[in-house]
Amino acid sequence: MRNLLFVISGPSGVGKGTIVDALMECDKTLAKSVSCTTRAPRRGEKEGDSYYFITEREFRSRIEENDFLEYDEHFGNFYGTPRSFVERQLKERSVILEIDVVGGLNCKRLMPDKSVLIMIVPPTPEALVARLDGRGSETEEAKKSRLQRVRYELGQCDLYDYVVVNDTLEEALRKVREIIATEQNK
Ligand code: 5GP
Repeated sequence: MRNLLFVISGPSGVGKGTIVDALMECDKTLAKSVSCTTRAPRRGEKEGDSYYFITEREFRSRIEENDFLEYDEHFGNFYGTPRSFVERQLKERSVILEIDVVGGLNCKRLMPDKSVLIMIVPPTPEALVARLDGRGSETEEAKKSRLQRVRYELGQCDLYDYVVVNDTLEEALRKVREIIATEQNK
């Protein structure tokens, strides 16, 4: 069985976090990479679970030390994948990264033989807007800029290896698990 880097991307609010949580729950052989970010924690987010929340100064010094496999800036904040965790885990098991499209494409460039890119898309754009409204934790301005990002990210589907429609959690999870099994056994 191959140990691979599965990158799960998709527009904000599409439900990729829920799919990844369910995936980790039912497949204990996988390791999930926790990214570092300079953004403030949202309500309910825990250090080391959702993200490692670090200062911009620390982030910049870790960039200098080549500590990130990839990193990017969104909405004025930095996000990065810790390199040592991913490289260590890949010796033993497959790793799940929940990161954006630019990060996914960077992984593919850095590790073309290991990276499998999976894009989660909403059944309709309206479903996504409703979900973003439901979160209620963001300003109108932040929502607008996220929706612009949605259009951009959906336009990148062709560059991904797989596209999974998140119609129901059950079905999306089944498809993601099928992709993982197929790729690991290739
Ligand atoms: P949020 O602030 O909503 O948690 O995340 C904003 C965006 O940053 C999302 O598109 C998310 O996938 C992306 N992201 C989270 N972690 C990383 C990372 O380590 N690297 C990159 N490139 N993007 C990330």
